[in-house]
Amino acid sequence: MEIYQNILVAIDLSEESVQVLSKAAKLAKNSNAQLSIIHVIEPLGYAYGGDIPMDLSEVQQQLDQHARAKLAKFGETYDVPLANQFIEIGKPETEIHRIANEKNMDIVIVGSHGRHGFQLLLGSTANAVLHGSQCDVLAVRVGK
Ligand code: AMP
Repeated sequence: MEIYQNILVAIDLSEESVQVLSKAAKLAKNSNAQLSIIHVIEPLGYAYGGDIPMDLSEVQQQLDQHARAKLAKFGETYDVPLANQFIEIGKPETEIHRIANEKNMDIVIVGSHGRHGFQLLLGSTANAVLHGSQCDVLAVRVGK
């Protein structure tokens, strides 16, 4: 039996997502594994400590729709069935861990930047995913 049967790829929907996803898709193919993708939408209020004196719900709704459409497009390109596409709302690392646990993932794949220093090398989200994870984590170098 292959080591990895359920692979979860976390993408921030940036251009670098292609580098992370294409590597993950190859790993999934070689391992005969199921590939799932997740994107976590951070509520706009988070960035301002939930203390903004205006209604952002319409903007938030538009951002959500945009993210859903983009994830679906990635899913289509990499043959990820709809049932394996996860859009969650909250803190990226928390939601990534939750879905990884709930869906019995064997490995989570994230992107990491080639900057200096451990924290910078992994990036803050990648670092947080690594440290709280109950399964393996693979960091794919991006931005080269
Ligand atoms: P960062 O720590 O922001 O440089 O992001 C590094 C990696 O963490 C990205 O390449 C993704 O794999 C993952 N990531 C960051 N933000 C998100 C997000 N909102 N949803 C899912 N994955 C994310």
